[in-house]
Amino acid sequence: MRRGWKVASAIAATVALLLSVGTARAQDAAGGAAAPKAPTPAVELREPDARYKSDILLVVAHPDDEGAATAYLARAIDEGKRVAVVYGTRGGNGGNEVGTEQASGLAAIREIEARRANATLGITNVWFLDGKDTAGQDVLVSLANWEHGVALEQLVRLMRLTRPEVVLTFLPGTFIGEDHGDHQAAGVVATEAFDLAGDPTVFPNQVAEPLKRLEAYLEGLRPWQPKKIFYFPDAEREDIFKGMGPAYSVKEISKSTKKPYWRAALDAFRVHQTQAKSFADRLDKMDDAAIEKMMQADGWADEQRFVLGKSLVGGGTTDPILAGIESGSIAFRRPAFSVEAPKDEVAVTLAGPWSFYDEFRKAHQLTHLPHPEPPEIALQENTTLVIPLWVRNSTGEAREVTLSAELPQGWSVTSRAGKVKVGANQTAGTRVEIALGSVSDTAKGRDGAKLVTVRAESGGKSVGVVTMKVELRKKALPE
Ligand SMILES: [Zn+2]
Repeated sequence: MRRGWKVASAIAATVALLLSVGTARAQDAAGGAAAPKAPTPAVELREPDARYKSDILLVVAHPDDEGAATAYLARAIDEGKRVAVVYGTRGGNGGNEVGTEQASGLAAIREIEARRANATLGITNVWFLDGKDTAGQDVLVSLANWEHGVALEQLVRLMRLTRPEVVLTFLPGTFIGEDHGDHQAAGVVATEAFDLAGDPTVFPNQVAEPLKRLEAYLEGLRPWQPKKIFYFPDAEREDIFKGMGPAYSVKEISKSTKKPYWRAALDAFRVHQTQAKSFADRLDKMDDAAIEKMMQADGWADEQRFVLGKSLVGGGTTDPILAGIESGSIAFRRPAFSVEAPKDEVAVTLAGPWSFYDEFRKAHQLTHLPHPEPPEIALQENTTLVIPLWVRNSTGEAREVTLSAELPQGWSVTSRAGKVKVGANQTAGTRVEIALGSVSDTAKGRDGAKLVTVRAESGGKSVGVVTMKVELRKKALPE
């Protein structure tokens, strides 16, 4: 292999030498003659590598998350569309049903599983950001563990390389459900990259033309503005997402595989042996009819729904994902955004991921995105609920605020209720910590959601009421 490469490059060098000698001779022959020169042909400028152009870019967190969209992707590929996939992490924090490997050892395996799973659908343009797998529901913790800025720079680069017409990703928001912070982080970073990849002032080294041969810093990519972004939620509830975007049946038969699209999704998922070996082994022992029966019961055959984030090419909310897309680039449009000045002199509001998402939706023109009111979370029984709060004082003197909580029976405040003092013209953070009770014996692993309310008073009047809906479960990711 190595010798062959040496021989090939030696031949190429000889040919180049002969060509240059030939050109020199031709110039000698023409030299001195007064004959008019033939016009110099234009130098053909190089273009971006067409092999990496995509119609759809899927941005998810962990190897196997692509399963949220594979049935639709199989359909799009049937229609000749090109798909690329980016994972935020390599999934090193997950379980391993096959061997002893964990952490970085497992991550090395899961990267290959993800590549093979995508390959079953014909997707080979697959990349991984260097985010670390984070077990928790707080998107801010996941973003920190991913090194947010680094992850964003990487994803903007990949968006400029793959030039997608449409981006598909997790819905940035927090809900009762799996509500994985990494899933949310994928949606956050994908949304930010959607709004930044077309801006030539963002990571300008990426879009600068190389200044020299074998340039080591400037990348020669082009700014790229994708045309639409769609989300799939990581929530259990479905009510607030209905009609917010297109829906696809997964039961239609694929032209290429002659099987329904849900089957393509299932066969891709089976490759993730570390995550689902027992499930895959069970499938191996079943015939097609038995698999179909089981899948109908397990929800694999349910229609696949998306939420429209935004379209820069118009169209209706429930229009098909690729409707109205024409080839060629569209102009970059910098989203306009201003932060409203607060009205009240003293106010207590919910902080943490909830206030982040509130600002995020405004900053990215996504205020129509469904989000639960009141804010909700599912937590493991007998753990602690932390309610993060902003205490804002816009007056010229320090103010005292009294915090109190109304809780379901058996739950108790363990820290930080009572009086707090915030300085003049300051916004300070605090938190109320609540010890949760147990799931009742009659419940099947989970209780119905209950309300928790924190009231804030200052100078004898209410300055804030924060209500959250909390569902207790036998098992849930930490807050
Ligand atoms: Zn995941």
